Amino acid sequence: MTDHINLFENVNRQFDEAADILEMAAEFRDILKTPYREVSVALPIRMDDGSMKVFHGFRVQHNGVRGPQKGGIRYHPDLDLDDVRALASLMTWKTAVVNIPFGGAKGGVQCDPSKMSLHELESLTRRYISKISMVLGPTRDIPAPDVNTNAQTMAWVMDEYGRKAGYQPACVTGKPIELGGSQGREAATGKGVAIITREACNALGITLEGARVVLQGFGNVGSYTAKFLDEMGAKIVAVADHTGTVRKAGGLDVKAAMAYVKEHKGVGGFTGGEAFDAAMVFAQDCDILIPAALGGVINEQTAPGVKAKLIVEGANAPTTTGADHILQGKGVPVIPDILANAGGVTVSYFEWVQNLQQFFWDEAEVFEKEEKIMVQAFQDVHAKVVKHGCTYRTGAFVLALDRVYKANVMRGW
Ligand code: NAD
Repeated sequence: MTDHINLFENVNRQFDEAADILEMAAEFRDILKTPYREVSVALPIRMDDGSMKVFHGFRVQHNGVRGPQKGGIRYHPDLDLDDVRALASLMTWKTAVVNIPFGGAKGGVQCDPSKMSLHELESLTRRYISKISMVLGPTRDIPAPDVNTNAQTMAWVMDEYGRKAGYQPACVTGKPIELGGSQGREAATGKGVAIITREACNALGITLEGARVVLQGFGNVGSYTAKFLDEMGAKIVAVADHTGTVRKAGGLDVKAAMAYVKEHKGVGGFTGGEAFDAAMVFAQDCDILIPAALGGVINEQTAPGVKAKLIVEGANAPTTTGADHILQGKGVPVIPDILANAGGVTVSYFEWVQNLQQFFWDEAEVFEKEEKIMVQAFQDVHAKVVKHGCTYRTGAFVLALDRVYKANVMRGW
C-alpha cells in the first residue's frame, strides 16, 4: 500500500508544518492529531467451503467537530490500524478544505477480496457493519467506498444498517443510483482533479491547452481525470496501471483507452500507443504528473527523476514528506490530495443532502455545484500559499487546521 514510513506519522508531519505557521500550542496539536474514537472488531465468517475464518475490521473516527464523521471502507490484506488512522485524519482535513459539514473517519477489513466469493464478501460486510453500527448513522459517521469496495458493498451497508434503524439511505454514500446514490458520483473525483489542475495551471502560468499529462492509475480517479483534462485541451501522453503501460507523444485516445480498460480490466495490451518501462512512469517527459493509484509512490527514490512542472495528487497520500522536500528543492509544486481529490467527498456530501431531503438533482446540477466548491477551495488554499509563502500542501493544511481548530474552540474541548 505504501512504502511504510508510517502513513500516520507522515500526515502528522504535514500537520506540524502548518501548526508551526499557525503557532498552535502543543496541547491543541495533541487533541487535533489524536483520533476521537477507534473501534476494532473480530469478524468470524463461515466461508463457502464450510470453514470458519476470523477477519479483523477497524473504524477510526478522527474528528467530528464540523459535522458527522465521513470516510471510506477499504478491503485490503495489508490494511493496518496506523494506515486507517492516517486516512481518517486526511478526511478531517479534506472535508475542512472544501468546507463541507463533515469530520473525518476511515475504516476497513484486513482481507483479500480477489480471493473471496460475492457471498463471502456480503457476509463479511454485513458482519462488519452490524458490529460497528452503534457508532454509525446519518448524524454520526457516514461510510463510503474506498479501495476494493464499491456501490454493491454500500448497498449491503445500507441494508444491514437499516435492519435496526429503518430506512436511512443517508447512513452511507456511494450507493447505486437505484438506492439513492447521486448522479455524477462515479465521475466526481476525476472531475474535481481536472478542475483543480486547470485552476493550478492558471495560478502557476502553465498553459493547459496542449499540456502533456502523465497518469499513474487508470481506474475510477485516473480515467475520469484523463477524460476531463482531454476535454479541456490537455494531451494525455502516458498512462500506467497494474497491468501495463502505454504512451503516445501526440496524445492517447482517452475514450478508446477507457473502453479498452472496461473490457480488459487494465491498459496492458492497449495498442493505441507503445509500452514503456513501468519503473520510469514518474520520470516521463511531461508538464503535469498525476499519481492516481497508490500511496507512497512519489518517494525519495522516484522524486529526483520527476520532469513535470506540476504534480496533482489524485490518489491519497502518494507523496512522502521526504519527496515533498526534494520536489520543493526542484521547484515542482505539488497540489495535495486533501484539495485535489476532494471532489469525491464533495459529491458524497451532495448524496447525503439529497437523501435527507428525498429530493434528487440531475447530473448538470451536481457538476455545477461541485465546480463552485472546488474553485472556491483552490482560491482559499492559494490565498494561504500567497500569505505564508508556503507550499500548496502546507497552505491546504493551514486552511483546514484553522477551520477545525476554530470550530473546536467554539464547541469547547
Ligand atoms: P481503482 O481501483 O478504480 O483504480 C486504481 C488504479 O490503480 C487502477 O488503474 C490500478 O490498475 C492502478 N494500480 C494498482 N496497483 C498499481 C501498481 N502497482 N502500479 C500502477 N498502477 C496500479 O481506485 P480509485 O477509486 O481510482 O482510487 C485510486 C486512488 O484515489 C486511491 O488512492 C484512492 O484512495 C484515491 N481516491 C479515490 C476516490 C474515489 O472517489 N474513487 C476519492 C479520493 C481518493
